[in-house]
Amino acid sequence: MSNIYCSVNNCYYWKKDNVCDANQIMITSDDMGAFAPDSMDALDYNKFEETPVETCMETCCKSFVEKGSGDEKEDGIMRM
Ligand code: SF4
Repeated sequence: MSNIYCSVNNCYYWKKDNVCDANQIMITSDDMGAFAPDSMDALDYNKFEETPVETCMETCCKSFVEKGSGDEKEDGIMRM
């Protein structure tokens, strides 16, 4: 179990009690999240530019995959 907690319960990696069950995730700025293709995720962590923000409201989880969407196999991230 990771020590990442998240309340986005419609994410494929979300588990009971707000646990994120992904073995790795990528957090970035909202701007980068909107710009980078869905295929760019935690496995590409060293390809992301540095993206300073000023508040937590400007960050997002790039690893979010909607539960039941069928896209979870595409991101290469594993459940723990
Ligand atoms: S992958 Fe991101 S959005 Fe999904 S449960 Fe983990 S932290 Fe939350």
